[in-house]
Amino acid sequence: MTNAYVYKITNKINNTFYFGYRYRNQTLKINPVDDIWINYFTSSNRMKKEILKYGKHNFTAEIIFESVDSLECWKQEQIVIKQHWGDTLLLNGKYHDPFSNKEYHRRINITSEKTRLKMSASRKGKPKTLEHRQKIAKSNTGQIGSAQKRQKLSEARKGKTPHNKGKSPPKFECIHCKKIASNANINKWHNNNCKTINPEKHYENATQIRNLWQIRTQCLTGGIRTPDPRLRRPLL
Ligand SMILES: [Zn+2]
Repeated sequence: MTNAYVYKITNKINNTFYFGYRYRNQTLKINPVDDIWINYFTSSNRMKKEILKYGKHNFTAEIIFESVDSLECWKQEQIVIKQHWGDTLLLNGKYHDPFSNKEYHRRINITSEKTRLKMSASRKGKPKTLEHRQKIAKSNTGQIGSAQKRQKLSEARKGKTPHNKGKSPPKFECIHCKKIASNANINKWHNNNCKTINPEKHYENATQIRNLWQIRTQCLTGGIRTPDPRLRRPLL
């Protein structure tokens, strides 16, 4: 199974071209290479405008690089854009040099670039509404995140000590059986759910967890993706 690929879109009328990179969308159970120019066109706003102007049938799409490693694909995309950077037919407006880690921009369409900067400036520093944040969280659920995003996060984390490094979580004592455990376990298995005072609730929790893990194991051995992200870890 291909995880990611680099594609090239060519305008049949004026020969302009655009490179894009795509990684697997886990909510679609389609091999990504099987739906390019069928279900998937491009995520580029610039290309969407071009498609509106010329019509989908006036473009060809070809896959020029495939890999199971989405980071490798993203790098390949940057490299091909860099190779064609001087070409006036190239429609990509930026690339991120994976070797120097520098981003290069150029103005393809001055007015849209101005509008873009203006929009970005007006949005900067403004907190997102709860609804907006929930929408983002929802759309991110089940996504592995683009290789670019993951690399940026990984770069940002480099050299930083994790906030919980070397610290053990605080322990608590069960008010009934006096057992010491982490906050999560104390609430899950002790205090109001303690075997000594509420055996029914205690074993009900245990059964629920066992069932969740059974479903998860079936999914894993059957090669099916766990249907509900909550099943990845038992939540009570
Ligand atoms: Zn207890």
